[in-house]
Amino acid sequence: MSYNIAIDGPAGAGKSTIAKIVAERLSFIYIDTGAMYRAIAIYFIDNEVNLDDDEEIINACSNIDISIKYEGGVQQVILNGENVTSRLRDEEVGRMASICSVFAPVREKLVKLQQSLATKEDVVMDGRDIGTVVLPNANVKVYLTASSKARAKRRYLELTQKGISCNIEEIEEEIIERDKRDMERKISPLRKAEDAVLVDSSNLSIEEVVEAITDLIN
Ligand code: C5P
Repeated sequence: MSYNIAIDGPAGAGKSTIAKIVAERLSFIYIDTGAMYRAIAIYFIDNEVNLDDDEEIINACSNIDISIKYEGGVQQVILNGENVTSRLRDEEVGRMASICSVFAPVREKLVKLQQSLATKEDVVMDGRDIGTVVLPNANVKVYLTASSKARAKRRYLELTQKGISCNIEEIEEEIIERDKRDMERKISPLRKAEDAVLVDSSNLSIEEVVEAITDLIN
């Protein structure tokens, strides 16, 4: 039996940073499920899929093949044979990922892929519905959150360090909007699984959060 750790929470709570470190320390595989939704978003953007047409969405999903591989320990996402990893973090792609993740055919496709990966390997998987839907029997479940202010500040610093000028209020507004969409969607909304442990990272360092999660595993 593989050992599965599920980390869910809103955008910007530090899930991927934490999940990567925890996976590395345990020699588990880190699976970033948001990247898969982002890859689907790239397909939707490039192919101008009409979001008001259910049939077109179903067809698009049947034309999409997503797989992941690892290069130097870093997850690469392959969309229909093309490595799209360098485009995943684009703002436009993040926005579209949040929009197209509400569609049932999109979720069904990715949940299946995620479940099959987790049966084969010991994984730390992060997302929005991992503890509730994808891996309801995960060995450890964490709901990692932080205030919208703390998350906006982190994103602001990240962008500023990259030399990208931005406005912290606008970032916070975007975060609140994305939380709302993720938490209020009909299928697999973002919520804490009953048996997940809540960790609020607003006033914790990365190391403190990693320690809190490692304690749970031990
Ligand atoms: O985590 P990340 O920001 O990369 O995710 C992009 C979007 O994909 C999220 O806003 C969310 O709407 C969606 N997502 C999801 N379920 C997951 C992971 C991500 O709906 N398990």
